[in-house]
Parts: sequence; C-alpha cells; structure tokens
Amino acid sequence: GLEGAADEDTDLQPRPPVVTIMGHVDHGKTSLLDALRKADVAAHEAGGITQHIGAYQVAVPDGGKVTFIDTPGHAAFTAMRSRGAQVTDMVVLVVAADDGVMPQTVEAINHARAANVPLIVAVNKIDKPGVNPDRVRQELLQHEIVVESLGGETQEIEVSATKKINLDKLLEAIALQAEILDLRANPARAAEGTVIESKLDRGRGPVATVLVQKGTLKQGDIVVAGAEWGRVRAMLDDKGRQLKEAPPSLPVEILGLSGVPSAGENFVAVEDEARAREISEFRQRKAREKSSAAAVAGRGTLTDMLARIQAGEQKEVAVVVKADVQGSAEAIGVTLGKLGNEEVRVRVLHSAVGQITESDIQLAKASNAVVVAFNVRATTQARELAQREGVDIRYYSIIYEVSDDIEKMFKSKLAPVARENFLGYAQILQVFEVKRVGNVAGCRVTEGVVRRGCGVRLLRDGVVIHQGELSTLRRFKDDVKEVTNGYECGMSFANYNDIRVGDQIECYETEMVTAA
Ligand code: GDP
Repeated sequence: GLEGAADEDTDLQPRPPVVTIMGHVDHGKTSLLDALRKADVAAHEAGGITQHIGAYQVAVPDGGKVTFIDTPGHAAFTAMRSRGAQVTDMVVLVVAADDGVMPQTVEAINHARAANVPLIVAVNKIDKPGVNPDRVRQELLQHEIVVESLGGETQEIEVSATKKINLDKLLEAIALQAEILDLRANPARAAEGTVIESKLDRGRGPVATVLVQKGTLKQGDIVVAGAEWGRVRAMLDDKGRQLKEAPPSLPVEILGLSGVPSAGENFVAVEDEARAREISEFRQRKAREKSSAAAVAGRGTLTDMLARIQAGEQKEVAVVVKADVQGSAEAIGVTLGKLGNEEVRVRVLHSAVGQITESDIQLAKASNAVVVAFNVRATTQARELAQREGVDIRYYSIIYEVSDDIEKMFKSKLAPVARENFLGYAQILQVFEVKRVGNVAGCRVTEGVVRRGCGVRLLRDGVVIHQGELSTLRRFKDDVKEVTNGYECGMSFANYNDIRVGDQIECYETEMVTAA
C-alpha cells in the first residue's frame, strides 16, 4: 500500500507491545532494563553480541515478544510525545520498596496519565531485608493509582532487578496488558514509525534507530525520516544482526540517510526518490515556518489551546502546577478544580513543589498545557526550552489571581489573554535615596535586556517580594529605552521602595494574545 493509506480492520495483525520504564532516580530502571534484556531467550542464539541501540526487543518464554524503549525517564518519553510521536503502549513504573513513592515517581505517573498510557507497577528491590511493599501500595493510592490487591485495576508485581525475582511475572503482566489493549498493525504495507535516537557515526555516516509502528521496513526501501531521506543500505537489530525486513514494533538501526533526524520525528517508506524529495522539502519548509512562527511572540501552547477551545476541539484548560510549598500546590489544585463550566473544565496534569524543570515544559508542550508557577521560578534551561517551544509560564504570588486568570481562558473565549515574555535579569549593586523619586537601584543587567516600562519582579533569596512596573530606566543621567546584558543602569519602581543590595530583578513584557 501507499504511505499514509488507511488500514482495513482485516489487515491488522497482533503486534508486540512497546514499553517504557519510568520511575524515580536510583529505583532501578537501568537494572531492570538490563535484567529483562538478559532474560531474552533469543539473546543466546545471537551469540551474545548486543548493540547498544535506543530500544530492544526480547522474546519471552511463551513465544511472545516485548519491545523496551531503552531511554529510561519521562523526559525522553514526553519529549517524543511533544513532537507528536506516541511510541509507548504502556509504562512500567518502577518504585523501590525501600524508598517508596518519590517526586519523580509522581512525575512519571502524571506524564503517563497525560499521555493516556496504562501503567504497570513494578515494586523493585523486594530482596532487601525489611522492605514493606504495602506502604508503596498505600502511597500510590494517594496518587489515585489503585493496584489490584487493593481492588483496583493497575497490575502490580514485586520484583528484584538484581536478584532476578519475578521478571517472568512482570513480562506476563505486560503480555496481559497488551492483550487488553489489543495492539495491532498491518505488516503488509509501506513502513511508518518514529525515530528513537540518531547519531552521526564516523565510519557509517548518519545512523538512526527507528521503531517500525506500521508496515514492514525492508532493506533497500527509500525512506524519509524527519526531513532527511535515503535508501536503507543496511538494517541491524539490537543484537547486531543484519536484517532484510523489520515488522511492526521492531526497533532497528538503519544506515543510508542523508542526514541525522531528531528523536521523535516520523519516518515513512515511500515509492520512489521523487516522492522522498517532495516530502523532505515539505517538512523542511514546515520546520522553517514553525521556527519563524515561534519567533513571533504569542504563538505557542497558550494560543493553540485558546484556538482549540474556541473551535470546540479541546474541552479543557490543561495546567501544570509548580509551587514553593505543598500547601500552596494543594490549594491551587482545589481552586482550579472548582473552575469550569459545561463546555470546558480545568485539568491539572501535574502538581508538585519546586522549580520549573525541562520535564515540566515537555509535559506542557506535549499536552497543550500552560505552566502555573506559584512563587517559584524556572531553571534557565527550562525557561529557554519554554521560549523555544512556545510554552506559556504564568507566574503568580496570590492564589485567587491564579483562578481569576485561568478562568478568563474559558469564560470569555474570544477575549484576549495576557501572555508573558521574559526579557532579562538585573542585580542590584547599590541603593540610592533620591529626593521626590524615592529609592533608585544601581543595577547590572546579568541576562537578556531590560526595557523602559517593563514588568518587574523583585526576588530576594529567590522569593518574589514585589511585582510591579519599572518607572525609570537610566544610563548615567539619561533616560534610555533599553539596557542589555553586562551594562549598568539605574532603575526605580512604580510605588515601591523596599529594595536592597543583592535583590534580583526579573523583567518581562506582557502582551495580549487571542486564539491563533
Ligand atoms: P535508575 O537510576 O532507576 O536507573 O537505578 P539503577 O538501575 O541505576 O539502580 C540504582 C541502584 O539500586 C544500583 O546500585 C542498583 O544496583 C540498585 N538496585 C537496582 N535494583 C535493585 C534490586 O532489585 N535490589 C537491590 N538490592 N538493589 C537494586
């Protein structure tokens, strides 16, 4: 069949499940992936030469197969999803029995939930003396994960990755979940799937690990991966074996592409080179348009969300909440939960204490959500990622302002909503008292730019102590429009005087946006 063609029900054959392992750091994700890989009954016949590629498939004793994505962690999972790729059928959530549910466990739960992917809980390190898996069950319950032994539907297996206890049971649970999901694909069509990872190899040129999701990939096929294309010169599985064909759910390394595509990008086999060029050019053009559109402020998750709500395609305002203390996070969750009407509701995808991280931004991007920041800031990397990806971070320090603001997004669908664009940071080096003006801060801009009249937040020891506007911006004696990174300037703040040496000033501009 041609690429993109719909498959008839009758063409669909069962395919192996694709599994991602997630959980808190040090709970045993890597150890479990290793142990499962060694449990592979086919590994021995391959002579034990294993390639390290970003995904591998194991043959299980009952004759079935399972594919594991070997990039543990929700960041990779959600980063792929934010590019529109859904590769994972289910998540194995690893929780160490001696440590219990930890912040990244909760993050993983919420990332899986936002992606609508079922979970299987693997309570790991069960070999350790004195561990209590019941505590883990109770802790999971607090996050609305109800395991089977407590009357729920989430399968749960007690395992030891290092002592290889119950790995067969875990594989059985995966097989059962796969049966419930009734995973199928049509092997008799042109291949299509997702790039899992890629690199430029000195000897072999561009190398991409791809997961075949539909159809069968054949050696010699002409494929487009992201905006790159080429003829599949060679194809290897995770055991280093040369393959002529790769069926659905099999991860393979392919050689022969013109360049290195990105993880999460789609690949597709096409009929000839002309078609490959055409698709490649189309994708290059789209990528250029997207980056220039993203450069135009106001294009991103917020405008997308407003547009989708307005068109009736999205029935919720999705938010990721980060707060300074647990009490605030909870209060915001409760307040947001009460918002909504018959048409649109508010859905909190993830709520946690701490700085905004890249993983929060990935989640927001993948789910078309906005980030609500209560008395917390974003890490520099997270802020840059948010800017690049057009993810909207909304900062607050008063709880009712959170609900007022979010309510606007669905109450008045056509009304513009304020969006914040980060400008820069400045540091107060000196404070001067000036008659009739008040206190003036002698500052140095430490990042980005500061502009006349911009919005400011005063941070003392990382806590927001004031939010308002700049009233004057001067270099020496002159009023100026803008001061850039590295330069010194004088600033005063509208109706505000409590400034000290060492305070940090975050500067931003707001603009009103409407649905894209
Ligand atoms: P990751 O950060 O989640 O990938 O965790 P690792 O797989 O690196 O494991 C973290 C530590 O826990 C390592 O020292 C492992 O040896 C240990 N570990 C992992 N699984 C088990 C287990 O089942 N039992 C015990 N006793 N230790 C384990």
